[in-house]
Amino acid sequence: MNRLWYGATVAVLAACIFLAGQDQPLASNSQQTTATSEKIITAYTLPPDLYHKAHDRNRIHFHLALIDFAYGLVVLWLILRWKLAAKYRNLAEGSSSRRFVQSLVFCPLLLLTIGVFTLPLDFYGEVVEKRYGISVQGWGSWSWDWIKGQLVGLVIGTILIWLLYVVIRRSPGRAWFYFWLIAVPIGVFIFFLGPWVIDPMFHKFEPLQQKNPALTASLEQMVQRAGENIPPERMFWMGAGEKTTGLNAYVTGLGASKRIVVWDTTIAKMNNRQIVFVAGHEMGHYVLQHIYKGFAFFAPLVLLFFYLVHRLIGWVLARWGASWEVRSVDDWASLPALLFLLSLLFFVTNPVGSAFSRYLEHQADQYGLEVTYGLTPDSGQVAAQAFQVLGEVDLSDPDPNPVNVFLFYDHPPISDRVRFCLMYDPRNWILVPMK
Ligand SMILES: [Zn+2]
Repeated sequence: MNRLWYGATVAVLAACIFLAGQDQPLASNSQQTTATSEKIITAYTLPPDLYHKAHDRNRIHFHLALIDFAYGLVVLWLILRWKLAAKYRNLAEGSSSRRFVQSLVFCPLLLLTIGVFTLPLDFYGEVVEKRYGISVQGWGSWSWDWIKGQLVGLVIGTILIWLLYVVIRRSPGRAWFYFWLIAVPIGVFIFFLGPWVIDPMFHKFEPLQQKNPALTASLEQMVQRAGENIPPERMFWMGAGEKTTGLNAYVTGLGASKRIVVWDTTIAKMNNRQIVFVAGHEMGHYVLQHIYKGFAFFAPLVLLFFYLVHRLIGWVLARWGASWEVRSVDDWASLPALLFLLSLLFFVTNPVGSAFSRYLEHQADQYGLEVTYGLTPDSGQVAAQAFQVLGEVDLSDPDPNPVNVFLFYDHPPISDRVRFCLMYDPRNWILVPMK
């Protein structure tokens, strides 16, 4: 799904996805060998050829992220300026007098237009990933994923947009608050639904016990050490290798449905001790309630955004509404203008969200070190090795542009994480009770 859709159409979902205990897919290159995975690590370093590849790719990603944002704004502006929003509204209003039916015409048209406009950037992003050997997905499969992503976006987006305009019509003055009250629980619901409904649309899952009994047993030890209850039946193997060479593992779900997911690529490139550290990091997100902390952080921020958009939209429509043929804020055609303002606010505050996320990730690293202490001989070294493998496979830049880190890094740079793992004494027992 394209970034614009996340960033703008469903602001609350963006926050949810951002908060997902699931770390970003970590990418790879085929030169990785298992021989390097158990070398003693003193710092995160890459051989010169990999260093240049990592540095170049990171620079491209940084520029792409900036272009993505600017281009997203241009697309919304063009949709207004070319009166596409007004045309879609006319079509919708001509189709029925019922608002719900109108939303079924207007929302898919508008969301698909945004999707098609931003497709070239999605496409270029994939070209880059292929060039650097990170994506191994065929174009047919990639296109099918793009279509599925658009469909999921259309369904969720249409429901939210319909609700938004119901609220705007009923209570124009307080719509920003009422819509927030509705959107936050929907965001939470979708976040928890994801692992069951959305993830299987894109990847294959199988019981980990069948694929790798030894790893399952090691993970079970760590889970017990964490004082959690995730039986082996709730540990899953995920087939990511047909699409990416990236590595990942994550913990997700609630209560009895908690689960650990390990990607097949991770199993292929890391040893069991390293995977247990990665899973321990993920367990940290879980035990330390990062999902709830994230919601507590973002929900008020989103409320503030909604309020600011509410304050600004009147002025924007008074100034340009007539030239866009947008009648008022309760007109369907005002949506691109609302999304424009929301995107702008998200971008401006992105560094705050990134810093908050980096803090949580750092805490999860610390938790991973503490929870694996005693289970592996030298948990700090094992963690550093895990990051070295991750960095080589992911082509993580050892020396990222600080502006990039400030704006977009939701994880600390890998060099910092390795340094911390090597110096931290897990017997501080700050996050995991001593045993
Ligand atoms: Zn994490």
